Amino acid sequence: MFHRTLRFVRTGLALAGLSFLAAASVAQGTADAPLRVVTLHTVLTEIAREVGGDAVTVVPLLRPGVDPHVFEPAPADIRRVREADVVLAAGLGMETYLPRLQRDLPAGRVVEVGNRIPDPVQVCTADHGHEGHGHAHDHDHGEDDPHWWVAVDPLLAAIDIVTTELVARRPAAAPAIQARASAYRARIAALKPWAQAEIARIPEAQRLLVTSHDAFRYLAREYGLEVQPLLGLSTADETSARRLAETVELIRERRLRTVFAEASANDRTLAAIVRETGAKPGRPLCADGLGGQPGTDTIEGMIRHNILAIAEGLR
Ligand SMILES: [Zn+2]
Repeated sequence: MFHRTLRFVRTGLALAGLSFLAAASVAQGTADAPLRVVTLHTVLTEIAREVGGDAVTVVPLLRPGVDPHVFEPAPADIRRVREADVVLAAGLGMETYLPRLQRDLPAGRVVEVGNRIPDPVQVCTADHGHEGHGHAHDHDHGEDDPHWWVAVDPLLAAIDIVTTELVARRPAAAPAIQARASAYRARIAALKPWAQAEIARIPEAQRLLVTSHDAFRYLAREYGLEVQPLLGLSTADETSARRLAETVELIRERRLRTVFAEASANDRTLAAIVRETGAKPGRPLCADGLGGQPGTDTIEGMIRHNILAIAEGLR
């Protein structure tokens, strides 16, 4: 009787142990499944892939070369967002559709990376006149510039933010994620001294960037350039006659040789300036993320392309 009871207890324990192991392996399986990351910006697609490696499956909603200012998610995109574990957005108002998209999603699903980057560039919107335009938002000093990916320091901050988010959601993969992040970070960081040396070769009076839309302020801040954009923060903006006249004047005054079109923007206004001043159009810059052409379809390629186009055009 005693032995039988003991055997029963032992069997019970063994069974309990097995089911414990089974439960553990199920939990383990879930933890090891790649994190589903949907990206709303081309630069974030690269960062998520580089940092996440095999711990993530990245689903990009935008292809390189697509203008994120006018992008609208299709029903299939919205389905992908619903199935995602995390959605990475450029933030700072870049995705105008984001408030609508977020309405049906659980809190914390969408990470607006730009909103967490320290020291965002503020753009004064007072230039648009005193007709009340441009002041519908809460703050009256200006708007945050969403184009953080054109400079190295904000890119490094974005890499850190994405790393933190991925580690928090896949703690078991933390060492691998952190190792990839630090190697990738070093590669991007190395672009800054190279870019500084390139920009240093431009005569000081020529360090002026006349561009189509207002997308290069982070780059201008990082390398000590002035900017004179013809349009506002969006490619969908239009320029004013006053802005046009002011720009023509500035180009003549500085004897500026090059003005910069953009890969994705409408550059009719810039063509008018070229006719008016004799300044030449430089190589089109990548303003809104990775370019569609080979060579500009990686972050490193995009930064190198922009810096070389500027340095060669202005010196
Ligand atoms: Zn833009």
